[in-house]
Amino acid sequence: MTFNNRTALVTGAGRGIGKAIAETLAKQGVTVICVSKSAESCGAVATAITAAGGKAKALAVDVADGAAIAKAAEQLLAEFPIIDILVNNAGITRDGLLFRMSEDDWESVLRTNLTSCFHWTKHIARPMTRARWGRIVNIASVSGIMGNAGQANYSAAKAGMIGLTKTLAREFASRSVTANAVAPGFIKTDMTTEFVNDAEVSAKILDTVPLKRFGEAADIANMTAYLCSEEAGYITGQVFTVDGGMTM
Ligand code: NAP
Repeated sequence: MTFNNRTALVTGAGRGIGKAIAETLAKQGVTVICVSKSAESCGAVATAITAAGGKAKALAVDVADGAAIAKAAEQLLAEFPIIDILVNNAGITRDGLLFRMSEDDWESVLRTNLTSCFHWTKHIARPMTRARWGRIVNIASVSGIMGNAGQANYSAAKAGMIGLTKTLAREFASRSVTANAVAPGFIKTDMTTEFVNDAEVSAKILDTVPLKRFGEAADIANMTAYLCSEEAGYITGQVFTVDGGMTM
């Protein structure tokens, strides 16, 4: 993969999939701006990348807060005139069957997973379009494709991210800015510890996964890094499921 000293902003880079994406891009010589909710988690990742010889900066931003994103983007674009790659990965779940789901659980999942992508893209993609090169990757979920009982809020947010991705692909294509979505299946991270560590639940899940294992964060990071590379310049508006064959 070729990267030509690009700069990337990865949200949710403090743990799990986002951390793996940040580390994978940094290994390719990309300068990575690591965003997470807590300063500790993104700070630790940026420090580890720098210690390993890479280039990284950490910034704590609550992506559920549009005004905080605007302020952070202004600060970052003053320091990095171009952010070539945007990976919208920060996400949360607040699961529950629809009849029991509170409006707050609905709103917070939509704001964190979906509305955050709208705000980051609005601020970060404008210089990309001017530079006539850019990569946007939105980390969705198989829940946004298939639906999932207990995840009305989350599957709606992830399906929304897929619709947004396809629209961005169409709006930005003439400027050579691509937009794609990656839809992970069950990946071993803090988000899924509860299921992975429950023998009964994990056996049920693995029954639906032809490859008979949970995915690793690196499985998602490798696909994401490829979509951010020079070589992926003719791929846009697509959704790539990385799910061990679950949704084939
Ligand atoms: P994770 O281990 O729970 O990590 C989530 C990351 O997002 C953390 O770094 C967290 O920040 C950050 N984050 C959460 N809310 C935020 C907020 N309001 N503002 C800023 N950052 C925030 O999750 P993961 O499993 O790596 O998931 C990453 C993405 O993949 C999510 O969008 C998720 O929906 C998607 N996904 C995951 C799976 C899976 O099986 N794991 C499957 C499908 C899709 P802190 O570190 O500061 O807490």
